[in-house]
Amino acid sequence: MFTSVAGRAVVVTGGSRGIGKGIARAFAKNGAQVLIVGRDERAGIATANELSADGAHVCHVLGDVSVPSDCQRIADVAGEQLGGIDVLCANAGIDPTSPLSELTEAAIDRVLATNLKGCMLSVVACLPRLKLSGHGRIILTSSITGPITGFPAVSVYAASKAGQLGFMRAAALELAGSRITMNAVLPGTILTERIAGDAAFLEQVAVRVPLGRVGTVDDIGNTVLFLATDEAGYITGQTIVVDGGLVLPEFQSITLT
Ligand code: NDP
Repeated sequence: MFTSVAGRAVVVTGGSRGIGKGIARAFAKNGAQVLIVGRDERAGIATANELSADGAHVCHVLGDVSVPSDCQRIADVAGEQLGGIDVLCANAGIDPTSPLSELTEAAIDRVLATNLKGCMLSVVACLPRLKLSGHGRIILTSSITGPITGFPAVSVYAASKAGQLGFMRAAALELAGSRITMNAVLPGTILTERIAGDAAFLEQVAVRVPLGRVGTVDDIGNTVLFLATDEAGYITGQTIVVDGGLVLPEFQSITLT
């Protein structure tokens, strides 16, 4: 049983729904104080209320991670409401699709601004408080898409997710002297509100996953939680794939005779 996150101050960008909500829930259930960040105030407040129903300390701040002044405000609000920052979960992301033939500069900028620049800006803004923590943790939500796999029409998204890992590896070295670790989770296909209604898609995914099911936001939340514990304090600059074995097969469907 890992108990070391109790009382820790945790910021989760993109914590109002999907994977970020699962991450926020995992920390709240384990006694941490959580600040969730998003651009939709109503959704953020609803999630904060839901996650704090059992007495947990969960609050929301409006913010767009692609905007430097918003990232600074997020860090300041964490300082005021949580008393500092021990853990930053840089999770906010978008994944619009576009074939290369239709890709525009604006579409490229939009994805990179949120997924890559937003990740960097939130780290930079939270850094002074993470340094004061004494056991600072940064955990990025990357993806298997880009770092390991690819499929058509997601080239910019894939580049942003691979880019996060380059940022992480260099930054982890820079931050080691401040006793801050920085790691990334690489989810496979995870069941969120966005795809919950698409039963046919979910069925197709489940049969291709060696463990036989689509991932849950709790699968990611629990992995992130582990990386934030004292017990994981000697791990930095690393990735953990959480995909039910999806990337493992050498061949999709071949029968050995
Ligand atoms: P959702 O769309 O369900 O949730 C995204 C969250 O990010 C929302 O809370 C959203 O809130 C917030 N967000 C989006 N843009 C911004 C922004 N510019 N500033 C602040 N908050 C923002 O996505 P998922 O839960 O599916 O994805 C979460 C992360 O996991 C992403 O980084 C994604 O790339 C990654 N991932 C997801 C996988 C999956 O199968 N679901 C697989 C692999 C990786 P709001 O709109 O209010 O701002």
